Amino acid sequence: MMVAIDCAEDIELASELQNYLKKHQYDAKIEGSSVMLNALDVEKVLESFLKESSRTEYSIRKIDSANLLLSKEVPIEDFGFLRCEMCGYVLSSEEELLVHRRAHGIQLL
Ligand SMILES: [Zn+2]
Repeated sequence: MMVAIDCAEDIELASELQNYLKKHQYDAKIEGSSVMLNALDVEKVLESFLKESSRTEYSIRKIDSANLLLSKEVPIEDFGFLRCEMCGYVLSSEEELLVHRRAHGIQLL
C-alpha cells in the first residue's frame, strides 16, 4: 500500500530518504516534504535508513496506517520543563520536581 512519510518540512531529509529507497529498489517519489512509498515494511525500512544515516535523534511516528512522520525528537527540557528521572512525569519547576520526588520515597539531603 502507499504510505506517505512526512519529513516535517525537511526537504533535504526527504531527498536523502528517496535516494536511499531507490538504492534499495523501492519505488519512492517526493511530494512536498513527504516521501510517497509503496511498500509493506515501511517502518522497518525507515529504521534501517535512520540507522545507516546515523540519525539517532529522529523518531518514526505512526499517524495512521497510511501516514508516518519522521522527525527529530524535541526534548521537553528545551521548553523549560523538567522530567522526573524515576517515572518520566513532567513538571514545570524545580520546586515541583522536589515535591514530586518525595512521592517515590526519596530522602532529600
Ligand atoms: Zn516521578
